[in-house]
Amino acid sequence: MKPQLTIALSKGRILKETLPLLAAADIVPAEDIFSSRKLIFDTNHDHIKLVVIRATDVPTYVEYGGADMGVAGKDVLMEHGGAGLYEPLDLEIAACRLMVAGMKDAAPVEGRMKVATKFVNLTREYFARQGRQVDIIKLYGAMELAPIMGLADRIVDIVDTGNTLRANGLEPMQHIADISSRLVVGQPSMKMKHALIQPILDQLQLAIDRRREGGE
Ligand code: AMP
Repeated sequence: MKPQLTIALSKGRILKETLPLLAAADIVPAEDIFSSRKLIFDTNHDHIKLVVIRATDVPTYVEYGGADMGVAGKDVLMEHGGAGLYEPLDLEIAACRLMVAGMKDAAPVEGRMKVATKFVNLTREYFARQGRQVDIIKLYGAMELAPIMGLADRIVDIVDTGNTLRANGLEPMQHIADISSRLVVGQPSMKMKHALIQPILDQLQLAIDRRREGGE
């Protein structure tokens, strides 16, 4: 029997862009993921299953072998730290930027700065690299509210169009990183299931190239 392969997908905005790429690699869920409450999906291949989970849980599942490979945003991977993972492919989907933002025309902060974010680790590393002392306030959503309510001087968040910042009187201030979704593979899986994984990587790479050239 062929070894089983489990692919962890981030639910939400990334999923919509992931499924066409998987389809181009001939991996198609057996039922409509969006209208189902299931967490595990069969595919058109007996040996391949998809699990659909929170984006922040994808690297954890793959690191510990709960899934062989996964799709997650670079923001989530930077926050996780990447232990136990290979990151062989930039899928070039869900592109956005990780930015420091604050109230429009806010004065520079003297002394210790309060920064609200859900990306505690990467925010700490970013400001440490800048030699800047900051107090980090962990939030789980609606980061834009924190400077408005006086909870923080700045936020670190994902920016796409910038509409959410603008609508709340904030502006982007510093660019931390360009973000897109990546394919990750668990290091043991890459070794043990290489014959199964490599053709999928090859087909995904072809699909990414075709997409970039505007063919799809
Ligand atoms: P925007 O108003 O277009 O700048 O979008 C900003 C909000 O959308 C942020 O608060 C993010 O939470 C979310 N967002 C936009 N793009 C992405 C992405 N590629 N991945 C995850 N979240 C995103």
